[in-house]
Amino acid sequence: MGSLAGKKSILMNLKDRYAVFGQPIAHSKSPLIHQIFAQQTGQSLDYEAHEVSAELFSSAAETFFAEGGKGLNCTVPLKELAWAFADCKTERARLGKAVNTLSVQADGSVLGDNTDGCGLVRDLLINHALMLTGARILILGAGGASRGIIAPLLEQSPRSIVIANRTVSKAIDLAGEFQDRGAIAGCGFNALNHSQFDLILNATSASLSGRLPPLEAGLLAENGVCYDLAYGDAPTAFVRWGRENHAFKSLDGLGMLVEQAAEAFYIWRGVHPETRPVIELLNFQRGENQP
Ligand code: NDP
Repeated sequence: MGSLAGKKSILMNLKDRYAVFGQPIAHSKSPLIHQIFAQQTGQSLDYEAHEVSAELFSSAAETFFAEGGKGLNCTVPLKELAWAFADCKTERARLGKAVNTLSVQADGSVLGDNTDGCGLVRDLLINHALMLTGARILILGAGGASRGIIAPLLEQSPRSIVIANRTVSKAIDLAGEFQDRGAIAGCGFNALNHSQFDLILNATSASLSGRLPPLEAGLLAENGVCYDLAYGDAPTAFVRWGRENHAFKSLDGLGMLVEQAAEAFYIWRGVHPETRPVIELLNFQRGENQP
C-alpha cells in the first residue's frame, strides 16, 4: 500500500508544473482554462494559482523554477517584475516592457514573453470577425496593458491610434515610443471632443472598481465597437456605456483572456489548443449575460 502511494506521488511529480502568480488571484480562471487545454490536447500537466505579492515575486519565482517548474504566467501587479526577472525576452515583450509568460529554456535560462496583445488581436479578428485595417482606434489608458497591445494593433494597419489617459504625459510618452510604427498620438480625455472612432478599447483599470473614464457621447462612429479589456460575470461599466451609446458590439476581455492563455500554452507545449469551446464554457458559466 505504502509503495503504491509512493509510486503515485512519484508519477504525479513527473507532471510538468505551471502556475499563475498574481495578487489578488483567488478568482483566476487560468487554472481551469489550462486544464481544459491540457485535456483537449492530451497533455499531462499541473497548473496552479498562487497569491504572490510584488515584494515576494522574485524569490517565489526563483523557488518555483528551482523546484522544476516549467512555466509561469504573471498577472497584476507582477508583469513588470516578471519582465525584469526574465534572463531574455521576445521582441513583443521587450516592446511592451511587460511579461505575462515565463518559460524555462533548454539551457536553464528563463525566457519572458507577452501574449496579451496577440490574445486581444485574435479575439477581435477571429472570434468577433472585426476588421482592424483602416480602423480609427481609441485606446483609453496608458498603463501596462495599453503598452502591450499597441504594437500588435499597429501591425494590423489601422488608419490611426489615439491613446487617451488621465495622466496626459503618460499617453503622449507612450505614443512617442511607437511613433515609427504607424499613425499614433497621445492626449487627455478632454482633447477627444469632436473625434470619432470605429473601435474604442478600454485599457484603464477603472472598470475593476465599476467606474468609467470621462467619455463624450459622440465618440463612437456609426457601427463602432467597444471592447473592455477587463471582464466580469456581469457587464462592466464600459460594456454598458457601449450599449447605451448604440455600439455595433460592446464586448469584454474574456475572449482575450482565453486567447492569451492559448498562446502561452503554445509557447510551453508547442501545440495550439482550441479556444472557442473554452470561451463558450466560460460564457455559459457566467450565465451568457454578455453579448
Ligand atoms: P495599470 O495599472 O498598468 O494601468 C491602469 C490605467 O488605468 C492607467 O492608464 C490609469 O491612468 C488608468 N485609470 C485607472 N483608474 C482610472 C479612472 N478612474 N479613470 C480613468 N483612468 C483610470 O493596469 P493594466 O494596464 O495592467 O490593466 C488595465 C486593465 O486591463 C485592467 O482592467 C486589467 O484587468 C485589464 N487586462 C485584461 C487582460 C485580459 O486578458 N483580458 C490582460 C491584461 C490586462 P493613470 O495613468 O492616470 O493612473
